[in-house]
Amino acid sequence: MSDRMTMEADIVCVGFGPAAAGFLITLAKTADLPPLNVLCYERADGIGFGVSGVVTRARGIRASMPDLDFSQIPMATPVTEERLLYLRNKSAYELPYIPPFLRKHDGFVMSIGQFLEYVGSQIMATGAIQIWPGTPVEQAIIEDGAVRGVRLLGQDMDVLARLTVVADGAVGAIGRQLDDQRRKPHDWAVGMKMVVDLPADNGLTPGTVLHTFGYPENEIFGFLYVHPGNVASVGIFVPSWMRAPEESAYRYLQQYMMHPYIFQLLRGARLRSWGAKSIDESGRRAEPLLAGNGWARIGEGSATTNVLTGSGVDEAWTTGAQLGEAVVELTRAGKAFTRENLEATYVARRRASWVESEARIAEHARDGFHNGMLNGLIGMALAGFTKGRVTAAPWGRPPGLRGTSRSRPAEGRPDIPYDGQLFVSHQDALLMGGKVQATPGFEDHVQLTDPHKCEQCADQRCVLMCSGQALAILEGSVPAFDREKCVYCGACLWNCREGNISFRVGAGGLHSNEN
Ligand SMILES: Cc1cc2nc3c(=O)[nH]c(=O)nc-3n(C[C@H](O)[C@H](O)[C@H](O)COP(=O)(O)OP(=O)(O)OC[C@H]3O[C@@H](n4cnc5c(N)ncnc54)[C@H](O)[C@@H]3O)c2cc1C
Ligand code: SF4
Ligand code: SF4
Repeated sequence: MSDRMTMEADIVCVGFGPAAAGFLITLAKTADLPPLNVLCYERADGIGFGVSGVVTRARGIRASMPDLDFSQIPMATPVTEERLLYLRNKSAYELPYIPPFLRKHDGFVMSIGQFLEYVGSQIMATGAIQIWPGTPVEQAIIEDGAVRGVRLLGQDMDVLARLTVVADGAVGAIGRQLDDQRRKPHDWAVGMKMVVDLPADNGLTPGTVLHTFGYPENEIFGFLYVHPGNVASVGIFVPSWMRAPEESAYRYLQQYMMHPYIFQLLRGARLRSWGAKSIDESGRRAEPLLAGNGWARIGEGSATTNVLTGSGVDEAWTTGAQLGEAVVELTRAGKAFTRENLEATYVARRRASWVESEARIAEHARDGFHNGMLNGLIGMALAGFTKGRVTAAPWGRPPGLRGTSRSRPAEGRPDIPYDGQLFVSHQDALLMGGKVQATPGFEDHVQLTDPHKCEQCADQRCVLMCSGQALAILEGSVPAFDREKCVYCGACLWNCREGNISFRVGAGGLHSNEN
């Protein structure tokens, strides 16, 4: 043990996203639980600075909070209408039928930031649990194969705890620290969205949900969700299995908004904020170890995101709630947080739940995309309609980055009609639409492990796919990193096929509570 200052807690939680919220609210709502000292550390500057769509059926959320009144949460509203559209260059075809596994008819459109602020205030109101934003966890403290707690970044402080809850999302540094030696191959996407003010007479009903595919590239899925108060979220997902990205996700998103069908809905709109974040699209087949001695993993970093149903928030939340119930059970029984006990309570609950059964159905749902868009869509439909019994797996593919040969010449791309309102430059968006905070006193959280590799790198995909233009070639051929522009999306980590990016935890990032 080092001679750093130490603090003791019963439970320490890394990250405050939907998974941690589900975990903490379960503890907070258990009336007769023996007192536990629970601390939760979030690296972003606020507890509602996450990035997500969000449309969710909220099955797990409502099970945890049966009295939850969504009208109390700003930007939340029930789903009223759903459309599934295939977009081509100038045209849009609305599918006459939305498969049941994709439907969100009984769900809600929300802002993850507003939702987390609401739930966070409910948790802290109990006085039993503290959530500390602006406090990145640098690493887990591991002794004799057990996790003993966490070390905080930039502070001379270790927090020792009987249980460390790893809820740090898709690219979390603590989750990666605890991964098995042989990390399973992953599929990724960067999800980027904008929150926009719509003109008053926009004709869109709050709760309208649009899902699209086919534009601006075959591999890019898009969405538009309408919040109350003439506000909408519009966004896209750029996947790691896309063969030929030739634009940043930001540029693709602008192109998406210029599509005639989307633009007629956005005409006169104004950018309020934007955000980007990596999504782990591997699902169950890249599931890591879920629990060990003194620790358990919940949420997206534990492979909860379901690419077939297009849902992640509720799954992350539900695994958090399952761990919360397990902690209650073990605490009442006076049992320790060992791997064996956590597997018998938390992992067992998870295996018996809808999160697991739906993850099994989705496991090979995306395999067909290896052989083109049509095969991919057929594969998804097969998996969805047969409940995973028939998939495109016979033509399956190894997950991970695909080739980068360019399919279309860059000069074929339309010019962006910058208007200083909805279409602003990437640099202006960093300043006006969410604002990046690069907290002083921290070293760079993105570093190039071996700059010589970059000199030999043919595509420099980390630069192309950087969501904040924080990685750029200033001179020579080695990218330079600018903390002031990093939105903390984590896309550079998985876009470097050489594994040459060290992506550690840091403070700051996008500063908006409505994404
Ligand atoms: C653009 C976009 C659209 C999406 N749309 C939808 C949708 O419509 N419906 C849906 O259900 N899902 C959607 N998702 C997916 C959904 O957002 C995720 O599945 C969900 O947020 C996962 O929750 P989580 O708690 O596991 O992780 P996260 O939400 O990623 O939360 C992890 C938290 O941990 C913090 N953290 C990380 N490392 C540390 C550290 N070392 N110390 C302290 N804190 C740390 C992070 O800052 C973050 O706040 C979307 C995602 C994106 C990016
Ligand atoms: S993709 Fe990897 S090797 Fe290539 S420039 Fe970026 S960090 Fe260097
Ligand atoms: S440098 Fe920052 S903004 Fe750029 S890809 Fe990496 S994490 Fe995202």
